[in-house]
Amino acid sequence: MASQRILVLVKPDGVRRHLTGEVLHRIERKGYSLSNISWVQADEERLARHYAELVNRPFYPALVEYMMSGPMVAAIFTGDRVIEGVRSLAGSTDPTTAAPGTIRGDLGRAWSGESTMNIVHASDSPENAEKEIAIWFGEAEG
Ligand code: UDP
Ligand code: MG
Repeated sequence: MASQRILVLVKPDGVRRHLTGEVLHRIERKGYSLSNISWVQADEERLARHYAELVNRPFYPALVEYMMSGPMVAAIFTGDRVIEGVRSLAGSTDPTTAAPGTIRGDLGRAWSGESTMNIVHASDSPENAEKEIAIWFGEAEG
């Protein structure tokens, strides 16, 4: 059986703050394998598919502005239980209160502005991982 995959995005704030290597390093050190990596630039159409369950939330316009504010690095990592493992490394959504030791807890905080900038995206289920890999790497990867 092929091992599980996850889609990781180093979000625009992570790239701007020169944290790309740090984020990828933490995931690699945990033992997961990098299987593909690419620069990506979000647009409204891809974000609406990526965040389909959030498009009607009040914070969605600010989230789109945040995610389109600069280039991102998209990466596919593989390994047994990689989704649980990377979500655990990422930490909870709010970086101010994310646990120390996590990416968001160690490297993130609240900044002025409407969006919750938290450095990294990590898929939350195998189904969403495959959907998101197809969005950011193209259908051939999905
Ligand atoms: N987000 C936000 N305000 C909120 C909740 C979420 O700006 O009240 C942003 C934040 O960047 C988060 C993303 O929307 O990472 C997706 O939200 P989700 O609840 O899926 O959090 P995640 O899975 O990224 O922890
Ligand atoms: Mg999520």
